[in-house]
Amino acid sequence: DPAAPPAVEVTGVGKSFGGVAAVDDLTLTVPTGRVLGILGPNGAGKSTAMDLIAGNQRVDQGTIRIFGRDVTRAPAHQRVRTGGIARTYQEVRLFDGLTVLENIMAGAYVRRNSRAWQAVALLPTERRERRVAEEQARELMDRVGVIGRPDQYAGTLSYANQRRVEIARALAAGPRLLLLDEPTAGMHHHGSAAVGELVHRLRDDGLTLVLVEHNMRLIKDYCDQAAVMSLGTLLVQGDPATCLDDPRVKEAYLGK
Ligand code: ADP
Ligand code: MG
Repeated sequence: DPAAPPAVEVTGVGKSFGGVAAVDDLTLTVPTGRVLGILGPNGAGKSTAMDLIAGNQRVDQGTIRIFGRDVTRAPAHQRVRTGGIARTYQEVRLFDGLTVLENIMAGAYVRRNSRAWQAVALLPTERRERRVAEEQARELMDRVGVIGRPDQYAGTLSYANQRRVEIARALAAGPRLLLLDEPTAGMHHHGSAAVGELVHRLRDDGLTLVLVEHNMRLIKDYCDQAAVMSLGTLLVQGDPATCLDDPRVKEAYLGK
């Protein structure tokens, strides 16, 4: 729908930590139904931008709209509920002492309570309800390509598979907008390409996705647009190959 508002509109956003600007006058649009890849050197403010969109951090300046709705002052759980946002973090945040299935199931309860550890308390204990939730979690394991046993403790999976479980957990929430912070970190070529294929399937199912990604191949092959950040702000946004060829982008990576 060309008349649909963008999934995300970040306008003039700033965020400082102890006087240091992590994000500085950032303006960025994510078209609905598309995949945007954000790249940029370490410390460019990519993860902070994800935190600000999801509401895990509040902006100091500027506005954030999700699917046309101004959520600048809305807490994270409200953005999850009304905006259908789900996300993964740069660092793995699974519960080592819960099974793979339980970790994924917890994702289905973040709409009721966005704090993952509180969502865990909502895991169904009633046998029938639990069986349904487990079945959904099993399907997500398959869909995302988690290699491991459903009943194994998440902490015993390889790092790459823990990252896949995180994606499955985010999908369990049934999002319209999925934010993935470095989803292919620690994965080899085949694993990364599989994440790319999954991203395409999700987009074809109608999701909007934002990936923070260092893998240029993945940006070129699987993202509809690229956005390059440096020093907390947007350098360029547009066609991936064109962005990657931009001299300003090369300069940002080489440092001046
Ligand atoms: P990127 O994800 O692009 O590597 P980040 O958003 O993690 O960048 O960080 C941008 C800058 O903000 C860095 O200098 C980082 O040290 C700083 N920063 C991010 N989060 C915090 C925080 N919670 N407290 C203090 N400084 C932070
Ligand atoms: Mg980061």
